[in-house]
Amino acid sequence: MYTHLLSPLDVDGIRLRNRVLMGSMHTGLEDRATDFPKLASYFAERARGEVGLIVTGGIAPNIRGWVKPFAGKLSWPWEVRRHRLVTDAVHAEGGRICMQILHAGRYAYHPLGVAPSRIKSPISPFTPFALSSRGVKTQVMDFVRCAELAKEAGYDGVEVMGSEGYLINEFTSPRTNRRTDRYGGSDEARMRFPVEIVRGIREKVGKDFLLIYRLSLLDLVEDGNHWDAVVALAKAIETAGASMLNSGIGWHEARIPTIVTSVPRAAFAQVTARIREHVRIPVIASNRINTPEVAESLLASGTADLISMARPLLADADWVAKAARGQAHLINTCIACNQACLDHVFENKPASCLVNPRAAREWELPLRAAQQSRTITIVGAGPAGLSCAIAAAQRGHHVTVLERSADLGGQFKLAAKIPGKEEFSETLRYYSAQICELGITLRLGVQADKATILSDSPDVVVIATGVKPRRPNIPGVQHPKVLDYMQALNGASIGKRVAVIGAGGIGFDVCEFLTETSDTAGDEKEKWLKQWGVDLNYQSGAGLCKARVEPPEREVWLLQRRVGRLGAGLNKTTGWVHRAQLKQKNVQMLDNVEYVAIDDNGLHIKRDGTSICLQVDHIILCAGQESQNELFQHIQSVHPDCHLIGGARIASEVDAKRAIDEGVRLAMRL
Ligand code: NAP
Ligand code: SF4
Repeated sequence: MYTHLLSPLDVDGIRLRNRVLMGSMHTGLEDRATDFPKLASYFAERARGEVGLIVTGGIAPNIRGWVKPFAGKLSWPWEVRRHRLVTDAVHAEGGRICMQILHAGRYAYHPLGVAPSRIKSPISPFTPFALSSRGVKTQVMDFVRCAELAKEAGYDGVEVMGSEGYLINEFTSPRTNRRTDRYGGSDEARMRFPVEIVRGIREKVGKDFLLIYRLSLLDLVEDGNHWDAVVALAKAIETAGASMLNSGIGWHEARIPTIVTSVPRAAFAQVTARIREHVRIPVIASNRINTPEVAESLLASGTADLISMARPLLADADWVAKAARGQAHLINTCIACNQACLDHVFENKPASCLVNPRAAREWELPLRAAQQSRTITIVGAGPAGLSCAIAAAQRGHHVTVLERSADLGGQFKLAAKIPGKEEFSETLRYYSAQICELGITLRLGVQADKATILSDSPDVVVIATGVKPRRPNIPGVQHPKVLDYMQALNGASIGKRVAVIGAGGIGFDVCEFLTETSDTAGDEKEKWLKQWGVDLNYQSGAGLCKARVEPPEREVWLLQRRVGRLGAGLNKTTGWVHRAQLKQKNVQMLDNVEYVAIDDNGLHIKRDGTSICLQVDHIILCAGQESQNELFQHIQSVHPDCHLIGGARIASEVDAKRAIDEGVRLAMRL
């Protein structure tokens, strides 16, 4: 089915078994030598899953290039040995692997950072030192040395990170390069630094070694590069000896989302297609490509020669193998939530995956057959129950799932209704497909009680009955104007003026649901590009243009009792997108709110001692949740092996990440 995706490619004397490149992503396991055995098992599982070419997370060529203090680095011969563990493990599985060389430049989160000019970035508290001309030469030599050591460590090649606003990108852009020596002042001078790096590496490593250059196709920042400069750089890099060009989209400081779930699939691929017209070496498309269908269509249409995916291969190590076996429906699709991967990296925690908690934990959670097959009854078909059911069945247990409602998914079903979160329905598709594949018995519409559960005489009972919305104690909360978020998202009729109580993740989601414009005409991708002011045709500089947002049909207030910015607790990599979207839709955000009463006039609140009546048609409660665990209390006393997981165990701040993690970890112990 996926003839383009699965066809091999010969580049620089190296055969890649298919067109899937596992893009570079930091996992937090690259930084300490003692973590390299874990890194090796993580990559080996992806190589076993038939990925064509893996690229490691970024490794610095020297201390100044560290992303953070003591981050992964390869600059000394004694650092080679730990990398051998990784390359040997991947090669043993028939895979290929390149090491990414990343110099953080002004994004360094430490005081030793360097940059073309002394300009602080908005995402690091440290101002970099401006490199002298000699200092620039030293950085070039360190890149070259790092590549030589990577070759010694057994890598099949290196990827030079030239995008996302890191050091090389800082040299190539007028935004951050104000130099007046031979490395600045004109487009040609600005590209001298990467060209010297690529040429220097090629001279030292010789042929039969891959040299991928990650080129910033769209800077998406003010004073970023114009298209002619991007094309000139691509050609110069090709001439200097690169084997392939990978697509980089957007600097980290850009205020345009480039990978979160609301970004349409393959949103930026047309820029990859444009650069492909100017070079002869293979070109790699990236960003929000997560299914074999999308990947295949990009290759078939000539948009790119390979597809880069990082997070989709965290979500499912067997992504390629499943596509090759005609089992794409069994792929655990990355939903681009960032919650367990990039958010963890930014919180200095090891990365994993929300839909696959085994990712980068392979050594800790090996998927082994159970010693003894048991019968397991799970109550609740939300993320906790279903992830437990699937992992338990994969280990050879006989699993029955009982669910009160008419369909599976629990809170995930609601998330999939939020505009921009449609991707979450992929997880529901995955659950359904695995239930069939693994022969799990799913009984929907069953209100499980003690008798129902015990009638099957299960060896193990798992209660994953989830949560119910909290009803805060506000006078008038029983008024017909009041809906909880489940009712709101499940199709209740909602007026034009709405107050939302509670500004956690669900309050934000509900506001996005309420302010979605009913304009369904036109291409989704075009509408999204317009909304964020992205110009893929480069009519104006750096791919930016004026954003145009359709006004919403509803007037919405989002409220919280706490004093401070609303959404401050949202996740690092996605929270700013949610806040920006609600701002675009004119949602009024009020903190320091005291809820006084609800009546026919609307919601009465007090702020700073002033009484205000929000004259709204509806009030939607997003004030957190409470556990639904009554069944556990009943079963616990009569069944010796009974477990409580997910929101039913602890409702406070429960999210799908914790629910799924608990489900899988329990299954591994059964
Ligand atoms: P939450 O994050 O705990 O937020 C609940 C909100 O309700 C808080 O803003 C709280 O703020 C307010 N609240 C709590 N008790 C209240 C009361 N008695 N009366 C009035 N207001 C009250 O919970 P959630 O929004 O339900 O989300 C649940 C979990 O899912 C969270 O872990 C969340 O991170 C996750 N989630 C994340 C996303 C996302 O990242 N986009 C989306 C959906 C869900 P005040 O006390 O200040 O008023
Ligand atoms: Fe994808 Fe979310 Fe998993 Fe990250 S945590 S790999 S974004 S599903």
